[in-house]
Amino acid sequence: MPSLKFAVLAGDYIGPEVMAEALRVLQVVAQRENLRLDYTEAAVGGAAIDRHGSALPESTLKICAAADAILFGSVGGPKWEKLPPKEQPERAALLPLRKHFTLFANIRPGLLYRELTDASPLKTARIPDGIDIVCIRELTGGLYFGKPKETTTLPDGDVQAVDTMVYRKSEIERILVTAIATARARKKKLCSIDKANVLETSVLWRKTVTDYCAQHAPDLVLSHMYVDNAAMQLARDPNQFDVFVTENMFGDILSDEMAVICGSLGMLSSASLGAGKNSRGLPFGLYEPAGGTAPDIAGKGIANPCAQILSAALMLRYSFGLETVATRIEAAVKKAVTSGTRTGDIAFGKPSVATRAMTDAIISNF
Ligand code: NAD
Repeated sequence: MPSLKFAVLAGDYIGPEVMAEALRVLQVVAQRENLRLDYTEAAVGGAAIDRHGSALPESTLKICAAADAILFGSVGGPKWEKLPPKEQPERAALLPLRKHFTLFANIRPGLLYRELTDASPLKTARIPDGIDIVCIRELTGGLYFGKPKETTTLPDGDVQAVDTMVYRKSEIERILVTAIATARARKKKLCSIDKANVLETSVLWRKTVTDYCAQHAPDLVLSHMYVDNAAMQLARDPNQFDVFVTENMFGDILSDEMAVICGSLGMLSSASLGAGKNSRGLPFGLYEPAGGTAPDIAGKGIANPCAQILSAALMLRYSFGLETVATRIEAAVKKAVTSGTRTGDIAFGKPSVATRAMTDAIISNF
């Protein structure tokens, strides 16, 4: 019986609530598909600060390193907001985790089912068939990691802060491999987003994308767009994109815009893949919902578990090569969310929706 070895890092607030539901789905999937779940839970984020004094303890890193994939919840929240910025859960756990495993390729599907177009702030006439696009975000370079990154007091007493945006050609090329593969599996359309009219890193980005695609992906329709225009175009006509690829900070912002036009943070999953291969020769990856810890609804049993369950499906697809099983989970989520009278409520995690009931509906549709 094939064994699925993964680390479970649930995190804070709704993290453990939705993680419990994803594990419940995986248990059923494993039973029906004759798979063995071999997962180890480890502390991360605020929970790890409380227990071990660090947001990303060495013991957690070891458990992750021994696994084939990481299923991640979300970290942070008001309880730890008074800590110095460098010690806050998101900065001290998620960013180092991405860096440690070189998880440079973030794949975020932006999916809004046709039946739920009402959930989007966009007019239904603009998205009659819902939304189905993919954001590929470079995750370990650019402004979030470049050095120097510091705040200094100048001789005249003024205070200055510096962040540095750095990209190497090789970093751009490796994210393109993921972007090209994703575009090829869909409509063979790739839009690269940059700010080449202003930024040196973007000039290099655009030239590298153009040259690399000409050589390695002449079958794709490649386009380029400035990030400010892309932000507008996403709100105007999101489906003009099929797959877009962009650097770290632009991707951070655009993927959140994508989340809002898709109606609910509670529905969006993501995969962050690294250079390393796992024991199955497949990409080692970290799989997490697009949203945060939602402290405002934590403990009420109303968090939407779909994003976490869909993240588990992505894990089965990319890190375990179980494409058919992943597709079946995605179909079960779609059916559960779009059938019945509670669909809009379910998508938004309103109080009338019980987290467990949503999972039960997904399980019954698997
Ligand atoms: P958030 O994503 O946690 O919540 C924004 C809104 O969306 C809230 O109203 C919340 O109730 C709702 N929401 C989010 N997920 C939901 C779900 N599954 N079901 C139903 N509703 C859901 O963003 P925030 O409030 O800005 O951040 C809260 C905390 O989460 C902060 O500490 C932040 O740093 C952290 N955060 C962590 C991650 C991560 O771990 N990857 C990402 C983003 C934010």
